Amino acid sequence: DYQAIANPERTRAILKKYGFRFKKSLGQNFLTNEKVLQKIVSAADVTDQDDIIEVGPGIGSLTEQLAIHAHQVLAFEVDERLEPVLDETLAPYENTAVIFEDILKADLETLVSKYFDGKHTLKIVANLPYYITTPIMMQLLKTKLPIERMVLMMQKEVAERLAAHPGTKAYGTLSIGVQMRAEVEIAEIVSHTAFVPAPNVDSAVVVLKMRSEPAVKIPDQKSFDRLIKGSFAHRRKSLWNNLISLYGKDPQTKAKLTAALAQAQIDPGTRAEQLSLQQFANLDAAILQAD
Ligand code: SAM
Repeated sequence: DYQAIANPERTRAILKKYGFRFKKSLGQNFLTNEKVLQKIVSAADVTDQDDIIEVGPGIGSLTEQLAIHAHQVLAFEVDERLEPVLDETLAPYENTAVIFEDILKADLETLVSKYFDGKHTLKIVANLPYYITTPIMMQLLKTKLPIERMVLMMQKEVAERLAAHPGTKAYGTLSIGVQMRAEVEIAEIVSHTAFVPAPNVDSAVVVLKMRSEPAVKIPDQKSFDRLIKGSFAHRRKSLWNNLISLYGKDPQTKAKLTAALAQAQIDPGTRAEQLSLQQFANLDAAILQAD
């Protein structure tokens, strides 16, 4: 008589048995909707050829579904109060290990080579704690691990920024940082009622298919990051005004920037949110060349 951990009655019974109290500060909103869990598993296309890293297993509702479909699951949970709970709920799943550590502090590369055999496809699947969605995602996007894709539940508003196109309000530094490294697709919008406790806003399941090369060629990551950050520093100002705040207002710098913009065929009066990844890459190359 199998009952999924996510089954609302079973979740309630588990929480009661351990006298568990949610910590808002840890972004604890647990999924109690089995259909949503199936959507996540199918968006991640989880098979027995996959090794999965999960961030924040909570009481194990998603972990369980991953364990059923994957080869191995390695989960990172910062809240040690969940250790006895997960010991019980995940006991039937021998292909699962939980490490009680902050995902931002964990030495992922070492742990992955310790727990996984390196012969399976590496995927990340998580219902993220919303207060640190961006830092977790950016850290995972930058690891050297051969991650094939990440399937992440996050606030809908953040998901829309990840997927945003140039010329829209949602398009900005986050869109560019993520789209450089992954193909982004929103797989599903999820009502806040799928969670206990229910958060204030709706969520979305985002699929990030990792690129083997950056979306566009850039001459230098640091100078590109600096250009993007500076170009969006004041969203209502023109690109030109943001560029001179970033690089300098002296006549020499201004002449250099004018030449670089002309070479990249970009109107100085435009706004950063109008520029594609390729245009930013061209501009960065032109600025470096003008040095
Ligand atoms: N996966 C569970 C589910 O779907 O029901 C729980 C998801 S809940 C939104 C986020 C989980 O991440 C919580 O269990 C929380 O304790 C954990 N968490 C918060 N910050 C973390 C961190 N820095 N590292 C690892 N886990 C963290």
